[in-house]
Amino acid sequence: MARSIVPEAEALLDQEIKVLDKGFVRLVDYLGGDERIVQSARVSYGSGTKSYRQDRALIHYLMRNEHTSPFEQVVLTFHTKMPIFVARQWVRHRTARLNEISGRYSVMRDEFYVPDPNQMRVQSTDNKQARGDEAVEGAEQIIAEMQTDQAHLYRHYEGMIEKGLAREIARANLPISLYTEWYWQMDFHNLCRFLMLRMDSHAQYEIRVYAEAMAKCARAVAPMAYEAFEEHILGSVRFSRTECEALSALLSGKANPLEGRPLAIFQEKMNKMLAAAPAEAPEEFVPPSQ
Ligand SMILES: Cc1cc2nc3c(=O)[nH]c(=O)nc-3n(C[C@H](O)[C@H](O)[C@H](O)COP(=O)(O)OP(=O)(O)OC[C@H]3O[C@@H](n4cnc5c(N)ncnc54)[C@H](O)[C@@H]3O)c2cc1C
Repeated sequence: MARSIVPEAEALLDQEIKVLDKGFVRLVDYLGGDERIVQSARVSYGSGTKSYRQDRALIHYLMRNEHTSPFEQVVLTFHTKMPIFVARQWVRHRTARLNEISGRYSVMRDEFYVPDPNQMRVQSTDNKQARGDEAVEGAEQIIAEMQTDQAHLYRHYEGMIEKGLAREIARANLPISLYTEWYWQMDFHNLCRFLMLRMDSHAQYEIRVYAEAMAKCARAVAPMAYEAFEEHILGSVRFSRTECEALSALLSGKANPLEGRPLAIFQEKMNKMLAAAPAEAPEEFVPPSQ
């Protein structure tokens, strides 16, 4: 079978999707697509792609049943530019191959992340990791101070380099708002995990926007697989055993036994469930052995 060419993905290749004030996501290359997932899943049955309907049913079946290896056959390579503090979160996803710009080899550019005023919000009171909804007082002034500090530090960095100090040590005082760049390659299965974690509302806004741009590329490369990901993972809700008991109590007309923080978490899941958008159901796939 020839190399998969996906017209929607071809159209995205080399396009910079702008993210934050100076960053981007660029799809450099891809390997495979829906066709490859279907071919590799059907290798055991000795048949290739079938009708759109049957292929879609198979892909949904695979995603729903966590038959993940066919999704690993699809690989996406990105070139991305993001602030170092975003890269620090990103790099925790170990199932990737990456190559980052070297601050030992090159002079780092004078490019720092400056938050948009509407991101300048107070510390959240109920989530120690997050920002709240309210704007912080004096946001414009704080932004101006951030910019002054960034300019100051960069001037010193340049001065150290002019004095002949090695780049690898001169960079030590640069802040984590500095932009970095890397090539990042991940298979579709692990990319879905990355997207699930980083598009979630609990992820920091500054990485969420990168995940959303990458999701656009994933959708272009493998639209049926992305749809199945949305259906069975992104749009699904997982209840704990205790939450299932609470759900069961509610369904039988009893009072919700949960209270406090567990109740708040349960409510959040219920809200996600109630907000679920209807999607066209795929046909049911029945494996040949059944
Ligand atoms: C909202 C949010 C908040 C977070 N807060 C923190 C924080 O405060 N502090 C912090 O340190 N981290 C934090 N993290 C990072 C988090 O703990 C994970 O490291 C990160 O999300 C990567 O997930 P992963 O390991 O599943 O991904 P990957 O590294 O891509 O791995 C995918 C899967 O492969 C398997 N795997 C990969 N490598 C190994 C290995 N070496 N051994 C065994 N199995 C492996 C695991 O099953 C894993 O789930 C946070 C993440 C999120 C989304």
